[in-house]
Amino acid sequence: MIYFDHAATAPLRREALEAMWPYLTNVFGNPSSSHELGRQARVGLENARAEIAGVLGCSPGEITFTSGGTEADNLAVAGFALGATRGRRIVTTAIEHQALLETCASLRRDHGFEVVFAPIDRDGLVDLTALDSLLTPETTLCSVMYANNEIGTVQPIAESAALCRAAGVPFHTDAVQAAGLLTLDVDELNVDMLSISAHKFGGPKGIGALYVRSGRIPQPLIYGGGQEHGFRSGTESVASAAGMAKALTLAAEDRIDLVLLDLVLRDRLIDAVLKSVDGAILTGSQSQRLPNHASFCFANTFGESVLVELENDGIICSSGSACAAGSDEVSHVLTAIGIDDDLARTAVRLTFGPTTSEEDINCAIAALPAAVSRVRSLGLYSR
Ligand code: PLP
Repeated sequence: MIYFDHAATAPLRREALEAMWPYLTNVFGNPSSSHELGRQARVGLENARAEIAGVLGCSPGEITFTSGGTEADNLAVAGFALGATRGRRIVTTAIEHQALLETCASLRRDHGFEVVFAPIDRDGLVDLTALDSLLTPETTLCSVMYANNEIGTVQPIAESAALCRAAGVPFHTDAVQAAGLLTLDVDELNVDMLSISAHKFGGPKGIGALYVRSGRIPQPLIYGGGQEHGFRSGTESVASAAGMAKALTLAAEDRIDLVLLDLVLRDRLIDAVLKSVDGAILTGSQSQRLPNHASFCFANTFGESVLVELENDGIICSSGSACAAGSDEVSHVLTAIGIDDDLARTAVRLTFGPTTSEEDINCAIAALPAAVSRVRSLGLYSR
């Protein structure tokens, strides 16, 4: 099997597992306990926090561990908005992950916030002039994702953040897909809050982190013992934090080499598919794109059928978001960039990682045209 679904989740790195092992075995204490085992667990937790802060270029106290990217997004947007005194408007984009969009929907429904979407173009890129015009004294928070999970488009985050800073509007970015591939330096990006999730870059599932610039204080969404500076109660998973920190450090060390290799593989795959598959279109931006991401629509097919054909050939990929897999709903991202429903149902996404080889890419290049033809000739798309 060749795994082309790294945007859904990546395999756990062996070094991450090794970093976790002591906290799953001997050093099992609760990091809030004052006895020796607790103190050792606390050291492990704080070392992990400091390691992650090192990659983000922030201080350890600005990192809050969460259960993953979804919770980090919820805490950033709902936690911040509910605790804020300024305005009742959230500015975001229509192509954000559901973790962000559903949080905004709940702020509108349950708390009377206005949610405004900055326009995006056919490539999925945010219109900076329009974004700027939405940053008024009424704006509580602006959130624009760093890179899109379905179409791979990378947003101008530093530029968006600079506009927000000039307007005095706090800025959050969902960096879940960018982590491990693009810079996470919070000063370079100029962001106030940033979400990451370990399982996207070779760490364990069920842990993420939210960076919150010092002085920006979100209201907690989970109450209890006051762990994580009071932002997020609940006994921390020290093992997961250690695994996440190790995976992030390794990803940061490998980043430049990996990105260069990925870019070559990605462009080879995209060029070959666009040439060899009739009616194939690339979704998302060709130039402002994650280095490990290729996403297409194949007119007159059905994405899920192409996936089955590819799986029969030993290639695992997805139609877009793992959260929407198997559902009949049309992708909100593809709709937002102006792709009609029929074409949106033909989406196929291939995303790769450190273990992907040139040979794997060659297999995908060989298999895709045949899989699409089979679906077309068998009418597997008729619904
Ligand atoms: N944000 C983006 C852009 C994602 O792609 C995902 C997961 O696919 C999430 C948030 C949610 O992360 P998690 O699975 O850790 O909750």
